[in-house]
Amino acid sequence: MDSEAQRWKDEYRALLNEQEQQATDARELHALLRGYLRAVLGACRGWQEHLDEEIEVLLIKLDQARDATTLQPLHEVVYRVTELVRDQRQRDEATATLATSRLEHALDELRDVWCEFPMLAEPLAQICQSTTLSTEQKLTAIATTVLEVCQQLERERRDTEAFLLTVQQSLGHFETWTQQATGDYQHQRAASSALQQQVDEDVNALTEAVTGDNPATDDLKTRLLTRIKAIGDRISVFRDTEEARIQDMESRNAALHAELETLRGRADELDQQLRDQQDLLLFDGLTKVHSRYAYEQRIAEMLATFRRDGSPFCYALWDIDHFKRVNDSLGHQAGDVLLAQVAGYLQRYTRSGDFVARLGGEEFVVLLPGTMIDDAMRIADKLRALIAAASFDYDGDSHAISLSCGIAAIAEDDSAVSLYMRADEALYAAKDAGRNRCIAA
Ligand code: GH3
Ligand code: MG
Ligand code: MG
Repeated sequence: MDSEAQRWKDEYRALLNEQEQQATDARELHALLRGYLRAVLGACRGWQEHLDEEIEVLLIKLDQARDATTLQPLHEVVYRVTELVRDQRQRDEATATLATSRLEHALDELRDVWCEFPMLAEPLAQICQSTTLSTEQKLTAIATTVLEVCQQLERERRDTEAFLLTVQQSLGHFETWTQQATGDYQHQRAASSALQQQVDEDVNALTEAVTGDNPATDDLKTRLLTRIKAIGDRISVFRDTEEARIQDMESRNAALHAELETLRGRADELDQQLRDQQDLLLFDGLTKVHSRYAYEQRIAEMLATFRRDGSPFCYALWDIDHFKRVNDSLGHQAGDVLLAQVAGYLQRYTRSGDFVARLGGEEFVVLLPGTMIDDAMRIADKLRALIAAASFDYDGDSHAISLSCGIAAIAEDDSAVSLYMRADEALYAAKDAGRNRCIAA
């Protein structure tokens, strides 16, 4: 809490003490008045029977006026005592004079007590020293004066109390505000707005307290109000700054967010481009089986694995028979369609672990990992028979197609080239032997 707020709290505490003192004064004055009236009523006792009855009733009313805030019964008693004394003097001068001396005696006893109250001392001394007032007029004047002072004190006390309540609320709001250092800014914004409204209300209420129907003339109150208003103004400035800061932060966030979105989109685009490029590199555009590039990588991997742990594999080289004729008779486009169809057969009828690639033209390779030459021959021949049984339908006509295949099993000291060459030799042997067949190297 800053020193301004601390000073403000001290002022508040001082006001609280003042209010407590006022309450004590009011209570004591009230007791004094009750004592005084009790003495006066006592002095009036024994004049007449019907008066005594009334005095009893008044004494009960006096007892009821215990709470310093309820002045009504005291009011009534003062009024009635005045009347009693006046009536009695008219009826019976002698007893009235006797009563008067008893009253004066009671008055003397009380004088010492009221001297302790600065507010009472002066006016009561004036009444007592008066030469124009009769004793009962003095008594009545004294009772009325004490009652008026009581009422005045009571009014001030209530006034201060109400003022203190407003100040206390304001203090609570300021404290809430100082505790709002953390929390998310949306919440801060709402809280700050609510606080602003509350402070406005407080300041209005305090202004009303100072300038309204019952203005508080006390200098302290005015100073307090000025200070509270200053704090209210500061909060206003703070709120405006805070609002600007939040708005700035929000627009920065939005800009950052947009930038991030753009970047994310761009990153997705690049990622897709990369994947497309990889696909272009790894797959043959026409037949959709692996490319020659992918084949070179795979054969290198399989050779490395073979050298490491001796995992065997077979190498099947396929070539479409008389493909040139298809191109020549049906056109290059038909040749393309046939290439894609053959590649599809090779891919579909081999196992998922096998690797199919187009080496170029109408030449394909199928790598069969974990397979010995006899099994590879059986698999290849089955595949050959399937393709030969299927016909190539193009432009409403059916055309017979077949493939020849040369198969080589991996051997010690083999390279990709030596493997290819053995498979190619076997392939040529198959062509020489009449095509549509598989031959092992
Ligand atoms: P063989 O039975 O001896 O293999 O005879 P072949 O006609 O299939 O063999 P050859 O090597 O004489 O002809 C292959 C032809 O394949 C030559 C070439 O124009 C054609 N060719 C190569 N690549 C493509 C291609 O991508 N599309 C098409 N339509 N034809 C191609
Ligand atoms: Mg060929
Ligand atoms: Mg061919």
